[in-house]
Amino acid sequence: MAKTTKKTTTKNSAKATVSSEVALSVKDILKNVRPTPMIHNGLSNEEKIEKITEKFTEILEVLGLDLNDDSLAETPHRVAKMYVNEVFGGLDPHKFPKMTVIDNKMKYDQMIVVQSIECLSFCEHHLLPIDGFATVAYIPNKKVIGLSKINRIVQYFARRPQVQERLTKQIADCLQYVLDTEHVAVHINAKHYCVMMRGIEDTHSTTATSDIRGHFKTLPETREEFLHHCRVNK
Ligand SMILES: [Zn+2]
Repeated sequence: MAKTTKKTTTKNSAKATVSSEVALSVKDILKNVRPTPMIHNGLSNEEKIEKITEKFTEILEVLGLDLNDDSLAETPHRVAKMYVNEVFGGLDPHKFPKMTVIDNKMKYDQMIVVQSIECLSFCEHHLLPIDGFATVAYIPNKKVIGLSKINRIVQYFARRPQVQERLTKQIADCLQYVLDTEHVAVHINAKHYCVMMRGIEDTHSTTATSDIRGHFKTLPETREEFLHHCRVNK
């Protein structure tokens, strides 16, 4: 586990002092998160965009669409850019948010809950949107994290073709490693457009998944407090 500590030098002293901020390596973080099934094809993002544009041109032509129409002409390239740079950007480790943790000097020992985190993903079975909210909590050990980092972790893993169960666990794995605490809990409640628009065509049902670890799992009161936060997160 290679953690690099940022060194700061004060104006009055030439002596380098070690700050309490620790930057974590993306490689180590992702090694500790259960993987999305992937192959390494060695393509750069530019090459991916080029190839997807070609393939999408073919798909739309097979569907019988006229790509000479100026409304459709740019669609394959638009979709390719959207896949690589935006909605599936979470497949690219370079897009992983900068992760720094801070010493828990205030000795905070209660749960920290971030509610109503927007959680927009794509189901990997139909490539249709998953649209929901996440509630994420942890009880710090020696480290705390900037709250917006939790939103960014959710967003990073959501920007992959996903199944909601894996997404939930990847967020929990990541937090457990980054914060070095087993007391983490993740709950996601989401609508799946593949359930709404096709198949059963149910526009009302939602799917809830959770990964509850450490005290959240073993202490009934802690569990109940977390679940209370999830229930109001509608
Ligand atoms: Zn689906």
